[in-house]
Amino acid sequence: MHIQTHLLSGWCAADCFDMTPRERLFAMVAASAADLDGLGIVVSIECYAEYHHVLAHNVFFGGLLAAVLAFFSTRRIKAFFLFLALFHLHLVLDYFGSGLGWGIHYLWPFSRNEILNPNAWELVSWQNISTTAVLLAWTLLIAARKRRTPLEAIMPSLDQKLVMAFRTVR
Ligand SMILES: [Zn+2]
Repeated sequence: MHIQTHLLSGWCAADCFDMTPRERLFAMVAASAADLDGLGIVVSIECYAEYHHVLAHNVFFGGLLAAVLAFFSTRRIKAFFLFLALFHLHLVLDYFGSGLGWGIHYLWPFSRNEILNPNAWELVSWQNISTTAVLLAWTLLIAARKRRTPLEAIMPSLDQKLVMAFRTVR
């Protein structure tokens, strides 16, 4: 699934919990960092095909990612389990929405067995577009009701300008 969908999934899920701005940023990282293994595309298409959904789409990467992000969080235990769950949400979204032939190597590097969905929908599909649209609507709802956007922790000034602009348009 697309990176922006993963980012928004982390943002919207984090909104369901009492978290700090930094923890909400970490939630977006937890929900999207698995796709770092897609950076092989800058090396070659073969590198991308070999390692995407392998290097960082496994439970060990997810556990390490959640632990590192939780270490820098305020409520570490709660944060760890939320971040681990968001990492798995990424895998679930990919399972359905990454297109045919993109299995997930959940136990790599100890196993090359892949979890493959024979009925996965294409990357550019109405299902993926709908998922992104729902998350975008949810993000706008959060902006309207809680006066914050996914930019709150990294660009607080722009975050508030966007919130004000959104409230003016409404
Ligand atoms: Zn992915």
